[in-house]
Amino acid sequence: MLYQRSSALFKDAQTVIPGGVNSPVRAFKGVGGTPIFAKSAKGAYVYDEDGNRYIDYINSWGPMLLGHAFEPVVEAVKAKAESGTSFGMPTALETEIAKLAVSMVPNIDKIRFVNSGTEACMSAIRLARGFTKKDKIIKFSGCYHGHSDAFLIAAGSGGATFGTPNSPGVTQGTAKDTLLADYNNLLNVEELIAANPNEIAAIIIEPVAGNMGCIPPQDGFLEGLRRLCDSNGILLIFDEVMTGFRLAKGAAQELYNVNADIVCYGKVIGGGLPVGAFAARNEIMDYLAPNGPVYQAGTLSGNPLAMAAGLAMLKAINSDEGLFKRLEEKTAYLHKGMAKVFFEHEIDHTINRVGSMISVHFHKDPVYDFVTAANGNNDTFKTFFHSMLRQGIYIAPSSFETWFITDALTYKDLDETIAAVEVFAKELK
Ligand code: PMP
Repeated sequence: MLYQRSSALFKDAQTVIPGGVNSPVRAFKGVGGTPIFAKSAKGAYVYDEDGNRYIDYINSWGPMLLGHAFEPVVEAVKAKAESGTSFGMPTALETEIAKLAVSMVPNIDKIRFVNSGTEACMSAIRLARGFTKKDKIIKFSGCYHGHSDAFLIAAGSGGATFGTPNSPGVTQGTAKDTLLADYNNLLNVEELIAANPNEIAAIIIEPVAGNMGCIPPQDGFLEGLRRLCDSNGILLIFDEVMTGFRLAKGAAQELYNVNADIVCYGKVIGGGLPVGAFAARNEIMDYLAPNGPVYQAGTLSGNPLAMAAGLAMLKAINSDEGLFKRLEEKTAYLHKGMAKVFFEHEIDHTINRVGSMISVHFHKDPVYDFVTAANGNNDTFKTFFHSMLRQGIYIAPSSFETWFITDALTYKDLDETIAAVEVFAKELK
């Protein structure tokens, strides 16, 4: 494959954009090489500026659950654009998507729309702090909740990839209110609660972690957090920015039958436009301005184009009873196919998977928290990434990221992917 145009565009971009990208993980820094510049995408495929076609397992980092340029979303956005792109006034459309979202998810009464997952999580902890009148939060090492200050402590995703899980620029004053626990370690959480009596407003967690690869919650872990929150007056926040409307209609709350107090959304809920949201029961949401004292706002929040895209997406998901089963089956097929190749070629590996989220780790021991996620052989991962890219398969450029399976993928695409893994395995020898 040739990347001449991408290389030239990257060089040019670096003259005016820091690192040439508007979000660090796009820069391929963890794996080396030049990022490919996207030109267009349709269904399961993304096309770059040099005319190369890739089977896409990043899918804009999650939103494209039903494939790129999904027709109902494209049509909804086109139609809306004709009648004005932003009003800064309430619209009927916002109520329509809010009603649909609330009806799909268990345990929430009201939802507020924002512009990104970062905003959703940032607002959720402010609300939790205001509501409980306490300051500290517990987060888990390797979880990523966006780039607001309180969360850039042992952050996963790009933070982990670039070796900056604790970002300069976050004050010590802020950092001291974020307590860190190990994912899947309930005892650790109990100890933190005991050491900070009546000081913890919220525990925030990715109920299935997706920012240190894909890490499922172990049996009883989410239930245990729920219990600890209930007995200590702490709010449980599920960051479902990645899992929301992806793992099930009601996402992890439904899948694991555990209720959170506040739930954050992003990615799929916007159908590929910039949307985030946070939701809770009435008692908590009415604490938010203009009804309550906790302030939160946004000039473009509830933007008509974004709401039209989100509504088309949620309607499609809500009306497709077979969707989540199909996604799970495709992911399981890919898992089985890749594992078979790795076994046959005696390549140490662990593959984690929940629903349509999957990650490959190059070591043989279980991956269940940030430490075990970091054990993988990064050189093998880099070779894997570049081999796949050369063969037209676009996977996340870091082992700290999850791959996203879209409904647009066919079994032919999956077979092509598995065949590419076989080529990589032979190359590695
Ligand atoms: N929470 C989770 C679980 C995420 O995966 C992400 C983004 N990858 C965010 C929050 C932040 O979302 P955004 O990038 O839209 O700000």
